[in-house]
Amino acid sequence: MSNKIQSIRGMNDLLPEESDLWQAAEQVLRSTLNGYGYQEIRMPIVEKTELFKRSIGEVTDIVEKEMYTFEDRNGDSLTLRPEGTAGCVRAVIENGLLRGPAQRLWYTGPMFRHERPQRGRYRQFHQMGVEVFGLEGPDVDAELIAISARIWKLLGIKEVTLQLNSLGSAQSRARYRTVLVNYFKQHLQQLDEDSLRRLEGNPLRILDSKNPDMALLIAQAPTLDESLDDADRDHFEQLKRMLDQMDIAYEINPRLVRGLDYYGRTVFEWVTELLGAQGTICAGGRYDGLVEQVGGKATRAVGFAMGIERLVELIREHSSFEFKASPDAYLVLAGEAAAVSGLKIAEQLRSAVPQLKLLSNLGGGGFKAQFKRADRCGARFALVVGDDELEQEVVTVKDLTGELEQQTLSIDGVAQLLASYNGKRSL
Ligand code: ATP
Ligand code: MG
Repeated sequence: MSNKIQSIRGMNDLLPEESDLWQAAEQVLRSTLNGYGYQEIRMPIVEKTELFKRSIGEVTDIVEKEMYTFEDRNGDSLTLRPEGTAGCVRAVIENGLLRGPAQRLWYTGPMFRHERPQRGRYRQFHQMGVEVFGLEGPDVDAELIAISARIWKLLGIKEVTLQLNSLGSAQSRARYRTVLVNYFKQHLQQLDEDSLRRLEGNPLRILDSKNPDMALLIAQAPTLDESLDDADRDHFEQLKRMLDQMDIAYEINPRLVRGLDYYGRTVFEWVTELLGAQGTICAGGRYDGLVEQVGGKATRAVGFAMGIERLVELIREHSSFEFKASPDAYLVLAGEAAAVSGLKIAEQLRSAVPQLKLLSNLGGGGFKAQFKRADRCGARFALVVGDDELEQEVVTVKDLTGELEQQTLSIDGVAQLLASYNGKRSL
Protein backbone atom coordinates (compact mmCIF):
# COMPACT_ATOMS: atom_id res chain seq x y z
CA MET A 1 0.00 0.00 0.00
CA SER A 2 1.71 3.16 -1.10
CA ASN A 3 -0.84 5.97 -1.23
CA LYS A 4 0.23 8.25 1.58
CA ILE A 5 -2.16 9.63 4.13
CA GLN A 6 -1.80 13.38 4.32
CA SER A 7 -2.61 15.91 6.99
CA ILE A 8 -5.86 17.84 6.94
CA ARG A 9 -5.85 21.05 4.93
CA GLY A 10 -5.09 24.04 7.13
CA MET A 11 -3.73 21.88 9.95
CA ASN A 12 0.04 21.93 10.15
CA ASP A 13 2.83 19.99 11.79
CA LEU A 14 5.20 22.02 13.90
CA LEU A 15 8.61 20.74 12.81
CA PRO A 16 11.74 20.62 14.97
CA GLU A 17 13.39 23.49 13.07
CA GLU A 18 10.54 25.77 14.17
CA SER A 19 9.94 24.42 17.64
CA ASP A 20 12.88 26.27 19.22
CA LEU A 21 11.24 29.53 18.25
CA TRP A 22 7.81 28.40 19.45
CA GLN A 23 9.18 27.28 22.78
CA ALA A 24 11.09 30.51 23.28
CA ALA A 25 8.04 32.63 22.41
CA GLU A 26 5.75 30.55 24.62
CA GLN A 27 8.28 30.82 27.44
CA VAL A 28 8.18 34.63 27.21
CA LEU A 29 4.36 34.59 27.25
CA ARG A 30 4.21 32.22 30.21
CA SER A 31 6.79 33.97 32.33
CA THR A 32 5.33 37.41 31.62
CA LEU A 33 1.84 36.36 32.67
CA ASN A 34 3.07 34.52 35.73
CA GLY A 35 5.02 37.66 36.60
CA TYR A 36 1.79 39.67 36.73
CA GLY A 37 0.25 37.04 39.01
CA TYR A 38 -1.95 35.40 36.38
CA GLN A 39 -2.50 31.64 36.71
CA GLU A 40 -2.83 28.98 34.06
CA ILE A 41 -6.10 27.15 33.45
CA ARG A 42 -6.42 24.21 31.02
CA MET A 43 -9.78 23.42 29.51
CA PRO A 44 -10.86 20.54 27.25
CA ILE A 45 -10.51 21.02 23.51
CA VAL A 46 -14.07 19.77 22.94
CA GLU A 47 -17.17 21.36 24.45
CA LYS A 48 -20.92 21.11 23.91
CA THR A 49 -21.91 22.96 20.74
CA GLU A 50 -24.54 24.86 22.72
CA LEU A 51 -21.81 26.62 24.74
CA PHE A 52 -20.34 28.29 21.65
CA LYS A 53 -23.75 29.14 20.21
CA ARG A 54 -24.78 30.81 23.41
CA SER A 55 -21.54 32.68 24.07
CA ILE A 56 -20.09 33.60 20.69
CA GLY A 57 -23.53 34.35 19.25
CA GLU A 58 -25.60 32.62 16.56
CA VAL A 59 -25.13 35.37 13.98
CA THR A 60 -21.33 35.35 13.80
CA ASP A 61 -18.88 33.98 11.24
CA ILE A 62 -17.63 31.42 13.72
CA VAL A 63 -20.98 29.90 14.64
CA GLU A 64 -22.56 30.25 11.21
CA LYS A 65 -19.80 28.71 9.16
CA GLU A 66 -16.53 27.96 10.90
CA MET A 67 -17.14 25.41 13.65
CA TYR A 68 -16.05 21.79 13.58
CA THR A 69 -19.22 20.26 14.93
CA PHE A 70 -20.01 16.56 15.17
CA GLU A 71 -22.20 14.10 16.99
CA ASP A 72 -20.44 11.82 19.41
CA ARG A 73 -21.46 8.21 20.02
CA ASN A 74 -24.14 9.29 22.47
CA GLY A 75 -25.70 11.59 19.90
CA ASP A 76 -24.56 14.77 21.71
CA SER A 77 -23.56 17.67 19.52
CA LEU A 78 -19.94 18.58 20.29
CA THR A 79 -17.60 21.17 18.81
CA LEU A 80 -13.84 21.54 18.65
CA ARG A 81 -13.23 24.84 20.41
CA PRO A 82 -12.92 27.74 17.94
CA GLU A 83 -11.67 30.03 20.74
CA GLY A 84 -10.96 29.81 24.46
CA THR A 85 -13.16 32.36 26.19
CA ALA A 86 -16.36 30.30 26.09
CA GLY A 87 -14.73 27.23 27.65
CA CYS A 88 -12.93 29.36 30.22
CA VAL A 89 -16.20 31.00 31.28
CA ARG A 90 -17.87 27.60 31.48
CA ALA A 91 -14.98 26.29 33.60
CA VAL A 92 -14.92 29.17 36.11
CA ILE A 93 -18.69 28.91 36.62
CA GLU A 94 -18.68 25.12 36.92
CA ASN A 95 -15.77 25.05 39.37
CA GLY A 96 -17.06 27.85 41.57
CA LEU A 97 -14.08 30.11 40.88
CA LEU A 98 -16.28 33.19 40.80
CA ARG A 99 -17.22 32.90 44.47
CA GLY A 100 -13.84 34.11 45.74
CA PRO A 101 -11.61 37.04 44.82
CA ALA A 102 -11.00 38.16 41.25
CA GLN A 103 -9.54 35.52 38.95
CA ARG A 104 -6.64 36.34 36.65
CA LEU A 105 -6.23 33.47 34.23
CA TRP A 106 -4.41 32.46 31.08
CA TYR A 107 -4.39 29.43 28.80
CA THR A 108 -2.78 28.36 25.59
CA GLY A 109 -3.49 25.68 23.02
CA PRO A 110 -5.00 24.80 19.66
CA MET A 111 -8.25 26.28 18.31
CA PHE A 112 -10.21 25.08 15.28
CA ARG A 113 -12.05 27.08 12.64
CA HIS A 114 -13.12 25.93 9.20
CA GLU A 115 -11.83 28.99 7.33
CA ARG A 116 -10.11 29.31 3.97
CA PRO A 117 -6.48 28.47 4.74
CA GLN A 118 -4.00 31.17 3.71
CA ARG A 119 -1.03 32.99 5.17
CA GLY A 120 -1.76 33.65 8.84
CA ARG A 121 -5.10 31.82 8.68
CA TYR A 122 -5.29 28.12 9.43
CA ARG A 123 -7.92 25.58 10.45
CA GLN A 124 -5.98 24.50 13.49
CA PHE A 125 -4.15 27.45 15.01
CA HIS A 126 -2.90 28.35 18.46
CA GLN A 127 -3.83 31.09 20.84
CA MET A 128 -2.61 32.37 24.14
CA GLY A 129 -5.64 33.73 25.93
CA VAL A 130 -5.92 35.82 29.09
CA GLU A 131 -9.15 36.38 31.04
CA VAL A 132 -9.84 38.35 34.21
CA PHE A 133 -13.09 37.84 36.14
CA GLY A 134 -14.64 40.01 38.82
CA LEU A 135 -13.13 43.44 38.13
CA GLU A 136 -14.91 46.36 36.56
CA GLY A 137 -11.87 48.17 35.19
CA PRO A 138 -10.63 50.28 33.54
CA ASP A 139 -7.44 49.45 35.45
CA VAL A 140 -7.63 45.77 34.45
CA ASP A 141 -8.27 46.73 30.83
CA ALA A 142 -5.16 48.91 31.00
CA GLU A 143 -3.11 46.16 32.65
CA LEU A 144 -4.05 43.65 29.95
CA ILE A 145 -2.91 46.09 27.31
CA ALA A 146 0.32 46.69 29.28
CA ILE A 147 0.94 42.94 29.42
CA SER A 148 0.64 42.61 25.68
CA ALA A 149 2.84 45.67 25.13
CA ARG A 150 5.49 44.16 27.39
CA ILE A 151 5.35 40.90 25.47
CA TRP A 152 6.01 42.70 22.17
CA LYS A 153 8.95 44.47 23.77
CA LEU A 154 10.44 41.25 25.15
CA LEU A 155 10.04 39.55 21.77
CA GLY A 156 11.65 42.43 19.87
CA ILE A 157 8.45 43.25 17.98
CA LYS A 158 8.25 46.93 17.06
CA GLU A 159 5.86 47.57 14.24
CA VAL A 160 2.53 46.93 15.93
CA THR A 161 -0.11 49.51 16.71
CA LEU A 162 -2.86 49.42 19.26
CA GLN A 163 -6.37 50.17 18.04
CA LEU A 164 -8.87 51.01 20.70
CA ASN A 165 -12.59 51.60 20.94
CA SER A 166 -15.43 51.49 23.41
CA LEU A 167 -18.63 49.68 22.53
CA GLY A 168 -20.39 51.08 25.57
CA SER A 169 -22.93 49.35 27.76
CA ALA A 170 -25.70 47.13 26.46
CA GLN A 171 -28.08 50.12 26.55
CA SER A 172 -25.68 52.30 24.58
CA ARG A 173 -25.28 49.58 21.99
CA ALA A 174 -29.05 49.22 21.72
CA ARG A 175 -29.31 52.97 20.98
CA TYR A 176 -26.55 52.71 18.42
CA ARG A 177 -28.14 49.71 16.81
CA THR A 178 -31.23 51.74 15.93
CA VAL A 179 -29.12 54.51 14.41
CA LEU A 180 -27.07 52.00 12.42
CA VAL A 181 -30.05 50.03 11.11
CA ASN A 182 -31.61 53.29 9.90
CA TYR A 183 -28.40 54.17 8.08
CA PHE A 184 -28.00 50.80 6.38
CA LYS A 185 -31.68 50.71 5.45
CA GLN A 186 -31.10 53.88 3.44
CA HIS A 187 -28.42 52.02 1.47
CA LEU A 188 -29.98 48.57 1.15
CA GLN A 189 -28.88 48.10 -2.45
CA GLN A 190 -25.22 48.40 -1.41
CA LEU A 191 -25.36 45.64 1.23
CA ASP A 192 -23.92 42.23 0.41
CA GLU A 193 -25.70 38.99 1.25
CA ASP A 194 -24.05 38.50 4.67
CA SER A 195 -24.79 42.06 5.66
CA LEU A 196 -28.43 41.88 4.62
CA ARG A 197 -28.82 38.89 6.88
CA ARG A 198 -27.05 40.69 9.72
CA LEU A 199 -29.17 43.80 9.40
CA GLU A 200 -31.91 42.10 11.42
CA GLY A 201 -29.91 39.72 13.61
CA ASN A 202 -26.73 41.64 14.34
CA PRO A 203 -26.23 44.95 12.53
CA LEU A 204 -22.99 45.85 14.39
CA ARG A 205 -21.31 42.86 12.76
CA ILE A 206 -21.76 44.55 9.38
CA LEU A 207 -19.01 46.96 10.45
CA ASP A 208 -16.67 43.96 10.79
CA SER A 209 -17.19 42.92 7.16
CA LYS A 210 -14.02 42.22 5.20
CA ASN A 211 -15.74 42.71 1.83
CA PRO A 212 -13.87 45.55 0.04
CA ASP A 213 -17.08 46.53 -1.81
CA MET A 214 -18.59 47.46 1.52
CA ALA A 215 -15.63 49.50 2.75
CA LEU A 216 -16.92 52.93 1.73
CA LEU A 217 -20.41 52.36 3.07
CA ILE A 218 -18.91 51.24 6.38
CA ALA A 219 -16.48 54.14 6.51
CA GLN A 220 -19.38 56.58 6.22
CA ALA A 221 -21.61 54.88 8.78
CA PRO A 222 -22.44 56.73 11.99
CA THR A 223 -20.09 55.78 14.82
CA LEU A 224 -20.85 54.43 18.24
CA ASP A 225 -19.18 57.14 20.29
CA GLU A 226 -22.20 59.43 19.91
CA SER A 227 -24.36 56.78 21.59
CA LEU A 228 -22.14 56.26 24.66
CA ASP A 229 -23.53 57.30 28.05
CA ASP A 230 -21.61 59.18 30.77
CA ALA A 231 -20.44 56.07 32.64
CA ASP A 232 -19.15 54.52 29.40
CA ARG A 233 -17.33 57.71 28.48
CA ASP A 234 -15.79 57.97 31.92
CA HIS A 235 -14.56 54.35 31.78
CA PHE A 236 -13.01 54.94 28.37
CA GLU A 237 -11.41 58.26 29.37
CA GLN A 238 -9.81 56.69 32.43
CA LEU A 239 -8.44 53.83 30.37
CA LYS A 240 -6.88 56.30 27.94
CA ARG A 241 -5.34 58.26 30.81
CA MET A 242 -3.77 55.11 32.24
CA LEU A 243 -2.35 54.16 28.87
CA ASP A 244 -1.00 57.69 28.40
CA GLN A 245 0.76 57.49 31.75
CA MET A 246 2.37 54.18 30.80
CA ASP A 247 3.44 55.69 27.46
CA ILE A 248 1.43 53.13 25.52
CA ALA A 249 0.37 54.70 22.24
CA TYR A 250 -3.04 53.92 20.74
CA GLU A 251 -5.25 54.88 17.85
CA ILE A 252 -8.94 55.30 18.45
CA ASN A 253 -10.76 53.30 15.81
CA PRO A 254 -14.49 54.04 16.11
CA ARG A 255 -15.28 51.19 13.70
CA LEU A 256 -13.55 48.49 15.70
CA VAL A 257 -16.38 46.18 16.79
CA ARG A 258 -14.71 42.73 16.95
CA GLY A 259 -16.17 39.60 15.39
CA LEU A 260 -17.83 38.10 18.46
CA ASP A 261 -21.10 39.07 20.07
CA TYR A 262 -20.05 39.19 23.65
CA TYR A 263 -17.98 42.37 23.79
CA GLY A 264 -19.00 45.65 25.47
CA ARG A 265 -17.11 48.78 26.51
CA THR A 266 -13.36 48.33 25.91
CA VAL A 267 -12.30 46.55 22.71
CA PHE A 268 -8.80 46.55 21.26
CA GLU A 269 -6.63 44.97 18.60
CA TRP A 270 -2.89 44.99 18.03
CA VAL A 271 -2.28 45.17 14.29
CA THR A 272 0.72 45.17 12.00
CA GLU A 273 1.28 45.90 8.33
CA LEU A 274 4.00 43.26 8.15
CA LEU A 275 1.86 40.14 7.83
CA GLY A 276 -0.22 40.92 4.76
CA ALA A 277 -3.99 40.65 5.05
CA GLN A 278 -3.95 38.81 8.40
CA GLY A 279 -2.52 41.71 10.38
CA THR A 280 -4.19 41.29 13.78
CA ILE A 281 -1.92 39.49 16.21
CA CYS A 282 -3.89 40.10 19.38
CA ALA A 283 -7.47 41.07 20.06
CA GLY A 284 -9.63 41.45 23.10
CA GLY A 285 -11.94 43.47 25.23
CA ARG A 286 -14.55 43.54 27.92
CA TYR A 287 -17.42 41.05 28.04
CA ASP A 288 -19.32 41.95 31.19
CA GLY A 289 -22.52 40.19 30.14
CA LEU A 290 -21.12 36.83 29.11
CA VAL A 291 -20.86 34.98 32.41
CA GLU A 292 -24.54 35.53 33.08
CA GLN A 293 -25.40 34.56 29.51
CA VAL A 294 -23.62 31.23 30.01
CA GLY A 295 -25.52 30.60 33.25
CA GLY A 296 -23.33 32.04 36.00
CA LYS A 297 -24.00 34.96 38.34
CA ALA A 298 -23.37 38.35 36.73
CA THR A 299 -19.60 38.89 36.78
CA ARG A 300 -17.46 41.50 35.07
CA ALA A 301 -14.87 40.10 32.71
CA VAL A 302 -12.22 41.22 30.27
CA GLY A 303 -9.65 39.37 28.20
CA PHE A 304 -7.64 39.02 25.05
CA ALA A 305 -6.25 36.32 22.78
CA MET A 306 -3.17 36.40 20.62
CA GLY A 307 -2.56 34.25 17.57
CA ILE A 308 0.70 32.36 18.06
CA GLU A 309 1.24 31.52 14.36
CA ARG A 310 1.06 35.20 13.44
CA LEU A 311 3.23 36.12 16.40
CA VAL A 312 5.86 33.54 15.47
CA GLU A 313 5.92 34.70 11.85
CA LEU A 314 6.44 38.25 13.03
CA ILE A 315 9.33 37.23 15.28
CA ARG A 316 10.93 35.03 12.64
CA GLU A 317 10.78 37.62 9.87
CA HIS A 318 10.97 40.94 11.66
CA SER A 319 12.60 40.68 15.06
CA SER A 320 16.10 40.23 16.37
CA PHE A 321 14.83 38.12 19.26
CA GLU A 322 17.42 35.45 20.12
CA PHE A 323 15.88 32.02 20.33
CA LYS A 324 18.40 29.60 18.88
CA ALA A 325 19.17 27.01 21.51
CA SER A 326 22.33 25.40 20.23
CA PRO A 327 23.84 22.72 22.45
CA ASP A 328 26.61 23.60 24.86
CA ALA A 329 28.54 20.46 24.08
CA TYR A 330 28.74 17.25 22.09
CA LEU A 331 30.29 14.20 23.68
CA VAL A 332 32.63 12.39 21.28
CA LEU A 333 33.23 8.80 22.36
CA ALA A 334 36.33 7.27 20.78
CA GLY A 335 36.60 3.51 21.11
CA GLU A 336 34.50 0.75 22.62
CA ALA A 337 35.29 1.41 26.25
CA ALA A 338 34.36 5.08 25.90
CA ALA A 339 31.12 4.15 24.14
CA VAL A 340 30.21 2.17 27.27
CA SER A 341 31.28 4.75 29.87
CA GLY A 342 30.21 7.79 27.86
CA LEU A 343 26.60 7.83 29.02
CA LYS A 344 27.73 7.75 32.64
CA ILE A 345 30.04 10.73 32.11
CA ALA A 346 27.22 12.59 30.38
CA GLU A 347 24.94 11.93 33.37
CA GLN A 348 27.61 13.24 35.76
CA LEU A 349 27.90 16.45 33.76
CA ARG A 350 24.13 16.87 33.62
CA SER A 351 23.90 16.48 37.38
CA ALA A 352 26.65 19.04 37.90
CA VAL A 353 25.46 21.74 35.47
CA PRO A 354 21.86 22.92 35.69
CA GLN A 355 20.17 23.57 32.31
CA LEU A 356 23.06 21.94 30.47
CA LYS A 357 22.31 21.15 26.84
CA LEU A 358 24.56 18.21 26.01
CA LEU A 359 24.28 15.72 23.17
CA SER A 360 25.92 12.32 23.63
CA ASN A 361 27.20 10.61 20.54
CA LEU A 362 24.79 7.75 19.95
CA GLY A 363 25.13 4.95 17.44
CA GLY A 364 28.93 4.73 17.35
CA GLY A 365 30.89 5.99 14.36
CA GLY A 366 34.48 6.98 13.75
CA PHE A 367 36.23 9.95 15.31
CA LYS A 368 35.83 12.09 12.21
CA ALA A 369 32.17 11.27 11.74
CA GLN A 370 31.48 12.15 15.35
CA PHE A 371 33.21 15.52 15.00
CA LYS A 372 31.11 16.22 11.94
CA ARG A 373 27.95 15.56 13.98
CA ALA A 374 29.27 17.86 16.72
CA ASP A 375 29.76 20.63 14.17
CA ARG A 376 26.43 20.09 12.51
CA CYS A 377 24.42 20.36 15.72
CA GLY A 378 26.04 23.72 16.44
CA ALA A 379 27.62 22.71 19.75
CA ARG A 380 30.09 25.11 21.27
CA PHE A 381 32.41 22.41 22.64
CA ALA A 382 33.35 18.88 21.63
CA LEU A 383 34.14 16.80 24.70
CA VAL A 384 36.37 13.90 23.73
CA VAL A 385 36.58 10.71 25.75
CA GLY A 386 38.90 7.94 24.50
CA ASP A 387 40.90 5.17 26.13
CA ASP A 388 43.57 7.56 27.50
CA GLU A 389 41.01 9.95 28.93
CA LEU A 390 39.12 7.09 30.55
CA GLU A 391 42.23 5.79 32.21
CA GLN A 392 43.17 9.22 33.60
CA GLU A 393 39.56 10.19 34.37
CA VAL A 394 39.79 13.34 32.26
CA VAL A 395 38.08 14.81 29.22
CA THR A 396 39.69 16.60 26.28
CA VAL A 397 37.78 19.80 25.55
CA LYS A 398 37.86 21.28 22.08
CA ASP A 399 36.27 24.67 21.50
CA LEU A 400 34.55 24.36 18.12
CA THR A 401 34.58 28.12 17.66
CA GLY A 402 38.38 28.02 17.96
CA GLU A 403 38.37 30.76 20.57
CA LEU A 404 39.90 28.73 23.41
CA GLU A 405 42.92 26.43 23.28
CA GLN A 406 42.27 22.72 23.49
CA GLN A 407 42.51 21.62 27.12
CA THR A 408 42.32 18.48 29.21
CA LEU A 409 40.20 18.76 32.33
CA SER A 410 38.79 16.57 35.09
CA ILE A 411 35.03 15.97 34.99
CA ASP A 412 34.64 18.69 37.64
CA GLY A 413 36.76 21.02 35.56
CA VAL A 414 34.60 20.39 32.48
CA ALA A 415 31.48 21.00 34.54
CA GLN A 416 32.83 24.34 35.71
CA LEU A 417 33.73 25.40 32.20
CA LEU A 418 30.28 24.44 30.85
CA ALA A 419 28.51 26.15 33.74
CA SER A 420 30.26 29.41 32.89
CA TYR A 421 29.11 29.17 29.27
CA ASN A 422 25.62 27.90 29.42
CA GLY A 423 24.34 30.96 31.28
CA LYS A 424 24.88 32.82 28.01
CA ARG A 425 22.28 30.81 26.12
CA SER A 426 18.82 32.28 25.83
CA LEU A 427 17.09 28.97 26.49
P1 ATP B 1 -9.52 37.66 12.07
O1 ATP B 1 -10.21 38.97 11.98
O2 ATP B 1 -8.08 37.71 11.64
O3 ATP B 1 -10.28 36.54 11.47
P2 ATP B 1 -10.71 37.12 14.60
O4 ATP B 1 -11.32 38.42 14.97
O5 ATP B 1 -11.57 36.06 14.04
O6 ATP B 1 -9.45 37.36 13.62
P3 ATP B 1 -10.22 36.31 17.33
O7 ATP B 1 -11.33 35.36 17.39
O8 ATP B 1 -10.32 37.57 18.07
O9 ATP B 1 -9.85 36.57 15.81
O10 ATP B 1 -8.86 35.58 17.73
C1 ATP B 1 -7.76 36.27 18.29
C2 ATP B 1 -6.52 36.11 17.45
O11 ATP B 1 -6.33 34.76 17.06
C3 ATP B 1 -6.54 36.86 16.13
O12 ATP B 1 -6.20 38.18 16.31
C4 ATP B 1 -5.48 36.12 15.35
O13 ATP B 1 -4.19 36.54 15.71
C5 ATP B 1 -5.69 34.70 15.81
N1 ATP B 1 -6.51 33.94 14.84
C6 ATP B 1 -7.85 33.96 14.70
N2 ATP B 1 -8.25 33.12 13.73
C7 ATP B 1 -7.11 32.55 13.23
C8 ATP B 1 -6.84 31.56 12.22
N3 ATP B 1 -7.83 30.98 11.53
N4 ATP B 1 -5.55 31.22 11.99
C9 ATP B 1 -4.54 31.78 12.70
N5 ATP B 1 -4.73 32.70 13.66
C10 ATP B 1 -6.01 33.08 13.94
MG1 MG C 1 -11.97 35.40 12.06
